[in-house]
Amino acid sequence: MKVFSFLTPQHETCIGLEYQGAVYNFTRCWEIYKDIQTAGRGPAFSFLQIMLELDYFSTNTFVEALQTINELRPLSDFQITDDFTYEIPISRPSKVICLGRNYAAHARESGNEPPSEPIIFAKAPSSLIPHQGTILIPKGIGRVDHEVELAVIIGKTGKSIPESKAMDYVAGYTIMNDVTARDRQFAEIKASQPWFLSKGLDTFGPIGPYLVPKDQIPDPHKLDITLKINGEIKQKSNTSNMIFSIPELIAFISRFMTLNCGDIISTGTPEGISPLKDGDIVEAEIPEIGILRNFVFDAPAV
Ligand code: MG
Repeated sequence: MKVFSFLTPQHETCIGLEYQGAVYNFTRCWEIYKDIQTAGRGPAFSFLQIMLELDYFSTNTFVEALQTINELRPLSDFQITDDFTYEIPISRPSKVICLGRNYAAHARESGNEPPSEPIIFAKAPSSLIPHQGTILIPKGIGRVDHEVELAVIIGKTGKSIPESKAMDYVAGYTIMNDVTARDRQFAEIKASQPWFLSKGLDTFGPIGPYLVPKDQIPDPHKLDITLKINGEIKQKSNTSNMIFSIPELIAFISRFMTLNCGDIISTGTPEGISPLKDGDIVEAEIPEIGILRNFVFDAPAV
């Protein structure tokens, strides 16, 4: 079972559910299941946010809702058969926190020793684009790289979360491509400046396609992670190679800042980063989650 956000042909943002080979408009199901009228209440992020905050975001809740509704109306009434456009699985997070050099081999390929404590930086939420969206490379920006990463979605607000309780704060997982203006980043590092610009450009945050509930991935530290450009493998690793585990990251970050429900933590990229160019098709894959596919085009100068 996989959850995603999508835009209907009528331009309404809804939650989609892939379940037993069919795709359903879960927003419509939920209106009946919980007697909540969601139409006209705004885009899906608020609805998904409510599900997260009420702790409804689990495989059991989704399946129970479908079964209950099936007793009232045939599920085929809710099946999606039209074309639709993917949306960002959870949009408007209060922050997108990324990890620098959380895989030793990637730290070394960029000329650095593995860190002794997590290196965190922020990516602008406005950089996020969905599955099948287009990465636009501004003219004159120099080298731009892909970085495939496992992203954790926070399901419960917390501060000073102990490692032993950290997984209680995870709602689920998705895939992130932490696209980076590498030449700009090297210039920023040299000038002792933050990485905010080189990481935060519009369209430099592909994310999705699915938000997989935590209960479906018993161990997020045992996932194959790959990235292909035009079908050719560029990055290939396993999340077992992460230096700092997800509980360690949540405990570390929440010592300093509140993690809000809906926040995203992107856990760092393995080795194999390489440049993107006009016309490329980039596919970031974690088999348990899916394939995040995006297109690359040159854009006018910024
Ligand atoms: Mg990264």
